[in-house]
Amino acid sequence: MGKIKAVIFDMDGVLIDAKEWHYAALNRALDYFGMSLSRLEHVTTYDGFPTRKKLEMLSIEKSLPHELHDFICRLKQQYTLEEITLKCKPQFIHQYALSRLKKEGYRLAVCSNSVRDTIDLMLRKADLMPHLEFFLSNEDVEHHKPHPQMYQKAISRFGLSPAECLIVEDNPQGIKAARESGAHLLEVKDPKDVYYDNIIERVTEIDAGAGA
Ligand SMILES: [Mg+2]
Repeated sequence: MGKIKAVIFDMDGVLIDAKEWHYAALNRALDYFGMSLSRLEHVTTYDGFPTRKKLEMLSIEKSLPHELHDFICRLKQQYTLEEITLKCKPQFIHQYALSRLKKEGYRLAVCSNSVRDTIDLMLRKADLMPHLEFFLSNEDVEHHKPHPQMYQKAISRFGLSPAECLIVEDNPQGIKAARESGAHLLEVKDPKDVYYDNIIERVTEIDAGAGA
């Protein structure tokens, strides 16, 4: 085994194609109050942040009353769990990638800006939990991504140095967090990029001393 000992995955947009589910769930909740987000707004501005942060942004940009945040958060969470239950299924490329990496001795974890229950349900429905040592949610840190705390915590939980870890990320908040943690980065566009050959190619590049 080379320099890289662990691979840490973001969840949404990396292991799970959940963008649409979060978008639909938030809009269903906002719809009660005559508000909605366009797909463009979601993709360019809101995607990748925890729901509470999205609601703070909506209060600033669209005058959503603060008193509604708790209620909308609970509704959104309920709708998200419904979406996951209906739509989240195991994907062969991810099951294969994670099981093979694990068999080869790499230690695996997930760090996500989602809440714990959402991550737990998604990873179980996608049948990825057996390959992971642990996952961290936005409830396990004081500062969610783009702050690097979640990745720093995962790296220290492994008992490794940042240089021994590879982080797989898809969006600007996560990429900023990954870079600031000091670990190596594999940037992907969507979950289809997260397959064994792609990950191991990046690991080999780092082990050869080519990639920072
Ligand atoms: Mg993501």
